[in-house]
Amino acid sequence: FALCNLKTKERLLNQATRDPLTELYNRRFMLESFDQAINRAERHHLSLTFILLDLDHFKQFNDNFGHEAGDVVLRSIASVLKENLRLEDIACRYGGEEFCIICPDTNLKDGFTLAEKIRNHVAKLSLYCGGKSLGRVTASFGLSVYPNHAESVLSLISKADKALYRAKDSGRNRSEVSQPTNYAEQSS
Ligand code: GH3
Ligand code: MG
Ligand code: MG
Repeated sequence: FALCNLKTKERLLNQATRDPLTELYNRRFMLESFDQAINRAERHHLSLTFILLDLDHFKQFNDNFGHEAGDVVLRSIASVLKENLRLEDIACRYGGEEFCIICPDTNLKDGFTLAEKIRNHVAKLSLYCGGKSLGRVTASFGLSVYPNHAESVLSLISKADKALYRAKDSGRNRSEVSQPTNYAEQSS
């Protein structure tokens, strides 16, 4: 009976914290964890990288192949994230076709390397739905780093979002880093 109770508890907790389609964390859980992760980074004088990614021309993709195929893609992106992250990283479905990753103890250089690794994995995915090839998808990435670019959850998200827009503007399928306010910030 105790085991059954535990399982029910775990299921309820999963429902409250996870996105049902991808089983990644949901936005609410991510925002709560983000605060804690920043507090920890501050206490231990560590960096933290925040990565925001958005699928390129996904509306077109849905129009061409249908919503079901779109969902296959969203689940495949989630698998790429799960396979390439450390246990302490927090991957989340931020919105429709937007995802984000909180990477504790990760500086700008390592964060950028990770974003590029994931970007390349996504671009190489062979996607199929109902035996039909769906071609390729790409994603654009925006990064911000604590404490280099900002020190609060909302500013880090907003800076990563601006960087993501620059990635879209510069042709998509690329990673852009938040622009530092002075040169010294760029080196760490
Ligand atoms: P951009 O490269 O500028 O990001 O273009 P985009 O078409 O990806 O951007 P836009 O915001 O115009 O469209 C997002 C599309 O993502 C709209 C919708 O068709 C699709 N989408 C959002 N959520 C879901 C979902 O849960 N399932 C599926 N299949 N598609 C979704
Ligand atoms: Mg979007
Ligand atoms: Mg998009």
